[in-house]
Amino acid sequence: MTGRRRFLTGAAGTIALCASGRVLGEQASPAGVRSLSGRLVVVDAGGVNLVALSADDGLVLVDSGPARSAAAVTAALDSFAPGRAVRTLFNTHYHADQTGNNEMFASAGARIVAHARTRRWMSIDYWVPAEDRYEEARPVGARPAETFRAGGSLDAGVEEIEYGYLPLAHTSGDIYVHFKGSNAVAAGDAASPLRDPELDYYTGAWIGGRVDAMDIVLGLGDAETRIVPAYGPVMTQAEFRAERDMMEEVRARLFTQVREGKGPRDMLEGGLLDGLPRTWNDPYAFLYDAAKGLWAHHNKLDRNVV
Ligand SMILES: [Zn+2]
Repeated sequence: MTGRRRFLTGAAGTIALCASGRVLGEQASPAGVRSLSGRLVVVDAGGVNLVALSADDGLVLVDSGPARSAAAVTAALDSFAPGRAVRTLFNTHYHADQTGNNEMFASAGARIVAHARTRRWMSIDYWVPAEDRYEEARPVGARPAETFRAGGSLDAGVEEIEYGYLPLAHTSGDIYVHFKGSNAVAAGDAASPLRDPELDYYTGAWIGGRVDAMDIVLGLGDAETRIVPAYGPVMTQAEFRAERDMMEEVRARLFTQVREGKGPRDMLEGGLLDGLPRTWNDPYAFLYDAAKGLWAHHNKLDRNVV
């Protein structure tokens, strides 16, 4: 959780409402949710997007939201599917905005599913460089009970769900969850239409991984697929592809400048982010993380480097 991540949460939530109406042609929905299909909704967890599917035997939920949103999330789910408990909870990655209410749902019977590396991060104290502090390990009850490495599928009765790994896109444990019947993908923080894309380099996340992960998401659906980011408006596939292309342009520029011995301050002053179809809230922080991310992926700079 960095300062800049928190900074935009409120604004992102507000804009998401406007943008989703434009993209989706929104119909009347219960408070706190926006409809993706008759059975699939985006739940507003205080500016953080969760995705909920109403299935025959209960709810499938993607991400549990920050702890402060517990009451709002519970109310939204109750209005969307009265009397139905969350049976399966996916965590797209380990950050507290995605896992803050894990214990609440697990203690009510939900099975939490995530990438093995997400559970590992939640099981140990770890250093947060941007905030100069340790994040403490999460209680056992908050940690995913079921983990995977590559991916899997879940037959929810009304809908087939596929999920899979997005290697090193934002953390080391990002996943997507694809609701095939509703033609929608929860992409977590591998998509970032409003906030600065974040690369938790100390986990191994890096810009090349992010581009590769975005290509995986693009391969899941078709032109009509809706992609739900962790923050901000639901994206069309074309909007998601535009963000992917921009990230690839940044990656190519970054490689060139790192090969020339430039650091993030040089890159910023040299205009590395100029002329792109978006602006950054904190461009130096992004370039610092992007450049630092290459330390662990230096072999990608040249095929003869190992
Ligand atoms: Zn995150």
